Amino acid sequence: MSSIIYPTTNFTATEQLTIERGEGVYVYDTNGKQYLEGLSGLWCTSLGYGNRELIDTTAEQMGKLAFSHMFGGKTHKVGMELAEKLTAMVPVDNARVFFGSSGSDANDTHIKMLRYYFNAIGKPQKRKIISRERSYHGVTVAAASLTGLPVNQTNFDLPIDALGILRTDAPHYYRGALAGESEADFVTRITNNLEQLILREGPDTIAAFIAEPITGASGVIVPPAGYYQKVQAILDKYDILFWADEVITGFGRTGNDFGCTTMGIERPALMTLAKQLSSAYMPISASVIRGDLYDAMVEPSNKLGVFGHGYTYSGHPVACAVALKTLEIYQRDDIFGRAARMGEYLQRRLAEFRDHPLVGEVRGSGLIGALELVADKASGRAFDGGAVGAFAQRACEQHGLITRAVAGSSIAFCPPLIISEAQIDELIEKFGKALADTQDFVT
Ligand code: PLP
Repeated sequence: MSSIIYPTTNFTATEQLTIERGEGVYVYDTNGKQYLEGLSGLWCTSLGYGNRELIDTTAEQMGKLAFSHMFGGKTHKVGMELAEKLTAMVPVDNARVFFGSSGSDANDTHIKMLRYYFNAIGKPQKRKIISRERSYHGVTVAAASLTGLPVNQTNFDLPIDALGILRTDAPHYYRGALAGESEADFVTRITNNLEQLILREGPDTIAAFIAEPITGASGVIVPPAGYYQKVQAILDKYDILFWADEVITGFGRTGNDFGCTTMGIERPALMTLAKQLSSAYMPISASVIRGDLYDAMVEPSNKLGVFGHGYTYSGHPVACAVALKTLEIYQRDDIFGRAARMGEYLQRRLAEFRDHPLVGEVRGSGLIGALELVADKASGRAFDGGAVGAFAQRACEQHGLITRAVAGSSIAFCPPLIISEAQIDELIEKFGKALADTQDFVT
C-alpha cells in the first residue's frame, strides 16, 4: 500500500490499477495490458493520449514562461489570447472569463461573483442558488454544497447553511416519474415544483439556478423534451440567472459545441468550463459570465473594494497555452463535427443493449452515455448498494475497457472525441462480454 489517500475511495480499498502510459484512445497498465479508455480519464481527455502538439506546446511554454500570476491585472499574451478565443466560442453574450484550475474552484468563483454582483447593484439579499437533486458540481466546501449527491455531503456536514442552497427535482423521468405519468406531465410537475419553490422562498432572494445540461457523475441524465424551455421561462419570469455547469458537456461532448446548444438552453448568464478545455493535459478551468454582469460591477467596485478572489494558478501560462492549442485543434480538425458523427454511432450501438435483461435504461447524447443496470427490468427496481456496478466496472477492465460505475449501477461511457467507428465497435464488444459476466454474477 502506498501512503496516498485516494480521492473518492473507500479507505479500506487497496490499489486497484496502476496505469503507466497512454496513446490515442488507449492506456496501458504496468504489465503492458492495453485498455480502451471509455471514460476519457474522468470525462476529460478529449484528444486522447500522447497528442504531440499538446506535448510540444507544454514544453515550449514551460521554456518561455513557466509561471506568472494574474493578480491586479498583471498578464501575459497567451492568457489574453485564450480569453479572446474562448469568449468567441461560448454562447454567453459579451462574455468575460475568470481562470482557475478545476471545475470545483470555478464554481466557487461563480458563487463569489454572484454575491459581489448583487452587492454591487444594491440587491444583497439576492443570494440563494437553486441546484438539483443528484447534480454534481464538485467537491470544495462550496461546490460540494451545490452538489446534490449524498456521498459528497454526508459525513462532511454539508451543505453549508450560510450558502443558501435550495434543492429542486432531478429531471430524470425513468427514476422520478409517478406511476402512469407521461413524460410531458412529469416535466409539468417538476417545473411547477420549481416555481413553487421560488415563490415560497421569494424570487428576490434567489440569484441563480445551476444545472449540468446533461449530468455526468449522477448517471448521464438527459432531461425530457421541453424541460429546459419551461425552466428558462420560469427563471426569466422571476429574474433568476441561468448558470450552466458545462464542465463535462462543454466542447463537443454531447454532439454540439456545448451542452446548452444540444439541450436548447439559450444564452446562459454564467457558464463553468474545465476538463476538455485543455483536453486535461494541464489543469485549467474558466468561470464565464455575461458582459452586462461584469459591466455592472466595474464602477461599484471603486466603492465596494477590490474583488478579493484569485488563485495562485489563475491564468497559469502553461495551462493557458495548452488550452489555447486544444481549442485551435478543435476548430482546425473539426473535432466537434467528427464527435457528433461518432456520437450518433455510439448511441445507436449502445441502444442495442436496450433489450438485455439487466439493462433498465439506455441514455445519452453524442459521445456521452450510460446504461443503468437494474435488479428487475419490468419494475425498474434498482440493485441495493453499489456491488453490481462495481463488479461490472471491474469486468470491463478485465476485458480491456475502462468505464465507470456511477450513481450505483449505471455504467458510464465518455470516450475521447477522437475515437473511430472501429474503436466504438471494440468498446461495444468488450462491454458486451463484461455485461455477460455481470449477468452470471447476479444470477
Ligand atoms: N462540475 C461538473 C459538472 C463535473 O462533472 C465536475 C467533475 O467531474 C466538476 C464540476 C468538478 O470538477 P473538478 O473535479 O475539476 O473540481
